Amino acid sequence: MALAIGCQTIALWLIERSMMFSKILIANRGEIALRIIRACKELGIRTVAVYSEADKDSLHVRFADEALCIGGASPANSYLNIPAIISAAEITDVEAIHPGYGFLSENSHFAEICESCKITFIGPNSESMNMMADKMTARETMRKAGLPIVPGSQTTVKDKNDALKIAHKIKYPIIIKASLGGGGRGMRVCHNDVRLISSIMTAQAEAEAAFGSPDIYMEKYVTNARHIEFQILADSYGHIIHLGERDCSIQRRHQKLLEEAPSPALDNRLRKKMGDAAVRGAKAVKYRGVGTMEFILEENGSFYFMELNKRIQVEHPVTESICGIDLIKWQIRVATGERLTINQDEVKISGASIECRINAEDPDNNFIPSPGKIEELHFPAGPNIRIDSHAYQGYTISPYYDSMIAKIIAHGKNRDEAIKIMKRALDELIIAPIKTTAGLHRKIMDNKLFLEGKVYTNFLENIYGTKSESEE
Ligand code: ADP
Repeated sequence: MALAIGCQTIALWLIERSMMFSKILIANRGEIALRIIRACKELGIRTVAVYSEADKDSLHVRFADEALCIGGASPANSYLNIPAIISAAEITDVEAIHPGYGFLSENSHFAEICESCKITFIGPNSESMNMMADKMTARETMRKAGLPIVPGSQTTVKDKNDALKIAHKIKYPIIIKASLGGGGRGMRVCHNDVRLISSIMTAQAEAEAAFGSPDIYMEKYVTNARHIEFQILADSYGHIIHLGERDCSIQRRHQKLLEEAPSPALDNRLRKKMGDAAVRGAKAVKYRGVGTMEFILEENGSFYFMELNKRIQVEHPVTESICGIDLIKWQIRVATGERLTINQDEVKISGASIECRINAEDPDNNFIPSPGKIEELHFPAGPNIRIDSHAYQGYTISPYYDSMIAKIIAHGKNRDEAIKIMKRALDELIIAPIKTTAGLHRKIMDNKLFLEGKVYTNFLENIYGTKSESEE
């Protein structure tokens, strides 16, 4: 009997091994393209890089097994150019496409095209993507699944009068969001009727310009909130677990700057409650792959679903550090149909991890981008430091893409130790002459509220004494 079960297990293992892709195309650039190449090399998978004319000197082009130029510098001509990417995939005869984050990673139309071309899209299937296609649909799907959602409009806002009616019902402050929004863009916080009236038309016009649809909706703006997200990992057979939370409350313009795990704000009871809700939400959309359930957490412990990110996140390394799990490898494995071998009670959290995003931006000048050539570069190293970056000395940060230069990840046996490690790593970092967010991170490491773990999404106001531009 034992022998029979043993043989069956070996047979299953052999089938699963043989299902592993032999070659995949990476439809992305920068550090995430490199991160995927690293995982593929360790899994024995050949890689195809695609790149824009502006990225010809990039490391993902150099380190992939094959590389194809797919168009001009602007994302529309290259990393968002579906026909060019699919042609590259067909020419190089890949079995799968990894979309990374941003660009086409949450585009269900792209996922459908991959499916119809018999190329595996490494992500959830287009059906579950459609159930979460825009922020309003996602809210409705999660409300039906029994998750708490922030009070807000149930349909898109038609005009000023409609907006006023909703605002008086949910009470100020409110936040206006683009239904198809992302990346923290197009959000406006309003504290009164005057500001609301003056914001509606601009918000609709901005949403149309940035996301191709003028649809906007409104939510109650939760003050003194934290951004807490749960990492989801799911196979194709309905086995879904979470790998704990990340606290991403330190943000500029609603975009993350520093992430840490575990969150200093959660005890085991709240962690279980939020983790269970995250898994319930992922089950409701039959989620597959890696994903992130984002919540807003109030000081009193109430939490609300914000959105499900249907892709790998920038900040995934903090979870990898404390869980000892390679998320990209698992993302690829479950895309081949491999079963998840980890159960929820086997997920062990070890120590604490912090990630600082080093961006080519001027934090003393409203974070304006500071692209340009890196003349001098030295990355920190030593125990418990991980650097994810595509930059090198002589590399030019392009104005066409996001401004991230590197992610520094420090892992300690507890939060205090992780902070000490991060501090010394930031002291070792040299990037010149472009302006970066490194100095701001050094200030954060010495900030009393941060050291006490008291961070909210308005944290930077404590450092700069100013409101973010969307909060006039
Ligand atoms: P995006 O998809 O553009 O990143 P999110 O909906 O994830 O937008 O929100 C980004 C950030 O905006 C959150 O992390 C939080 O800081 C802030 N935010 C969003 N909704 C609310 C809300 N209802 N109350 C308070 N802050 C919010």
